[in-house]
Amino acid sequence: MQYFDHNATYPLSPAAREAWLSAVERFPANPSSPHRWGARSEQALSEARARVAAWLGCPADAILWTSGATEANNAWVGHLAQASRGPVLLSGLEHPSVRVPASRVLGGRCEAMPVLPEGVVAVDWIARRLRRGDVSAGVLVAANNETGVLQPWREVRDLCREAGVTFACDASQWVGKLPTDGLGHCDFVSACAHKFGGPVGVGFLRVPDGFLPSLRGGPQEDGRRAGTENVAGVLSMVAALEERQKALAGDVAAEVDRQALRDQWIARLQSEVPGVEILGSPAPRLWNTVAALMPPAADCRRRWVVRLDRLGFAVSTGSACSSGKEVPSPVLESMGRPPGASDRMIRFSSGWETPPAAWDELLRAIVQIASEFGLR
Ligand code: PLP
Repeated sequence: MQYFDHNATYPLSPAAREAWLSAVERFPANPSSPHRWGARSEQALSEARARVAAWLGCPADAILWTSGATEANNAWVGHLAQASRGPVLLSGLEHPSVRVPASRVLGGRCEAMPVLPEGVVAVDWIARRLRRGDVSAGVLVAANNETGVLQPWREVRDLCREAGVTFACDASQWVGKLPTDGLGHCDFVSACAHKFGGPVGVGFLRVPDGFLPSLRGGPQEDGRRAGTENVAGVLSMVAALEERQKALAGDVAAEVDRQALRDQWIARLQSEVPGVEILGSPAPRLWNTVAALMPPAADCRRRWVVRLDRLGFAVSTGSACSSGKEVPSPVLESMGRPPGASDRMIRFSSGWETPPAAWDELLRAIVQIASEFGLR
């Protein structure tokens, strides 16, 4: 099977697997336990915390371990609900783990940021809105999981900072694919291991001083996130991220090459299958993601996924959370697409290890299916 669904979950990397197996042997004790074994687990966690903090550029005690990005996002939404009263700016580009809790606990305080047709938030509007005053927080996903479009989170972070407004960034699809520096200057940052080769069920959250926790009932993480820490998961996540950080630091040109490869592939796709539209183009996008609107055909996206699956390719219809459910994507709606557009959307998301030949094979399969559907 050729796997093109890394944005949903990334297979465990060999280094992460090795680190997990070694950690369960070496650190069997609860980090909160008072004996030496407990202290050793606690020490391993604190070394891991220092490394993640250094990659982000923030103090080590600002990093909390979580069960993933859904928990992390819910945690900072919960903080905003308790700690502030004014409007919170956010857009339809957010993952459901931000959008849904925000509309539930912030309700009428949510104010929609406009989104440009290529899937980027309108920074000018944000700047003007912040100048008008009374805003409590700005929220922006770093890279959208459905389209791969990169958001101007650094600009929005700085605008929020100048206005004295809290800024929260869901960096789940960014971390492990692009450099992490500067993320630590956001007030809140969420990420999860299984988007970059670490295990499922572990992540981290960067919090500011005065964070108001919602998960209570234990003294862990200095009372800011109750629940026994997942030591092996954290060490495995850090091993996976270390590999990605090294790759990113070692070869900046490689990212440009990967983008060029993606764009050449898109050009070939569009010439072989007329009518394919690429969501988010020409905005900067993740090097690994191609979100294609296929030409109209009945029950379109499901038929594409099933046919590609039969030919040995795992692809997705968009976010993992909405796969298989015929609901219009709020991401596409916020980009001004009609509700039916998500029914034609297929997402191809590769990994660091995906060879160019796998993209060639994928294209051949798409062309074959397009011929069967009478689209070429
Ligand atoms: N945020 C974004 C942008 C995501 O892509 C995802 C996963 O699809 C999440 C949050 C949720 O992450 P987790 O699976 O760790 O809860």
